Amino acid sequence: MSTSVVTGGAGFLGSHLCDYLVAQGHRVICVDNLETGSLENIEHLKGPEFSFVYQDVVDGIWIDEPVDYVFHLASPASPIDYLRLPLQTLKVGSHGTANALGLAKWKRARFLISSTSEVYGDPQVHPQPETYWGNVNPIGPRGVYDEAKRYAEALTMAYHKQQGVNTAIARIFNTYGPRMRKNDGRASVTFLNQAIEGKPLTVFGDGSQTRSMCYVDDLIRGLYLLATSDEHLPVNIGNPGHELTMKELAEACIRVAGSSSTIVYEALPTDDPLVRRPDITRARAILGWEPEIDLDEGLRRWMRSLGHTPVG
Ligand code: NAD
Repeated sequence: MSTSVVTGGAGFLGSHLCDYLVAQGHRVICVDNLETGSLENIEHLKGPEFSFVYQDVVDGIWIDEPVDYVFHLASPASPIDYLRLPLQTLKVGSHGTANALGLAKWKRARFLISSTSEVYGDPQVHPQPETYWGNVNPIGPRGVYDEAKRYAEALTMAYHKQQGVNTAIARIFNTYGPRMRKNDGRASVTFLNQAIEGKPLTVFGDGSQTRSMCYVDDLIRGLYLLATSDEHLPVNIGNPGHELTMKELAEACIRVAGSSSTIVYEALPTDDPLVRRPDITRARAILGWEPEIDLDEGLRRWMRSLGHTPVG
């Protein structure tokens, strides 16, 4: 049986990854300080194959048993969270990543970091291949997150090249699905809940900025394939088939919820990227990975998980 450590395992993506790993027969050790995660996300995971360790990974990670994989997901991820927690975000990306890499080195484990499409910033190349270096404002409000992840990638490659740690870098694009916090501020969860509650959907700017939306199950399958491959260079994981304007995403939520909500427009936040779509040529070639769940189906599954009946 393989043993996996998942930092940030009580969060949205981390808890789905814990589920997936347990289903694959792994023993899973979830390390989390519950800064933005919740015990509710993992309370169904009981038994000898799952442990929870309450720990801030910035302070260190001590695991008293052999480890085969370290999945490092701990980090505030939504703009509301990292704007509220700028120093924690920088520290978990720097010290926290160094501690997770140190654990992988000590245990001779395969290491995977959840990086982000935000390393491309407001991109001048579209769609974004892994070879694009990005367009990030280091001192803008989003810089604390974007630069923490860019530093974390640099640190990961340095541990690989200098220390021989077996590392992987997943550049995750916008992902949606069950267990996103209702008030975490990301567009998909805000829109779906506003549509369900019959409230106006609040779209920033004129709603023409785009994101590519990947359902969480597809994303987690991609992370696992990357972790079990021998790839060391960054790999984009996201859904290029679903590049939507924010207005189109709002309309899809209204459609699937069968809602009569209207759309209202608010000021665009500073440095909000205008376009975002992954080039997943490498994920297809190296991992044989392809997203399978289309947007309406993903939204319907998510609605059902919230106890609502979708249209269609
Ligand atoms: P989330 O906020 O739901 O989960 C993050 C988890 O990390 C939470 O459980 C939180 O308590 C924990 N955490 C934060 N700081 C910690 C610390 N210092 N020590 C221990 N635990 C800590 O966010 P998410 O959406 O699940 O994102 C998970 C990872 O995936 C993040 O690294 C994020 O940058 C990356 N990512 C997510 C998306 C997305 O669309 N969800 C996109 C790109 C990248």
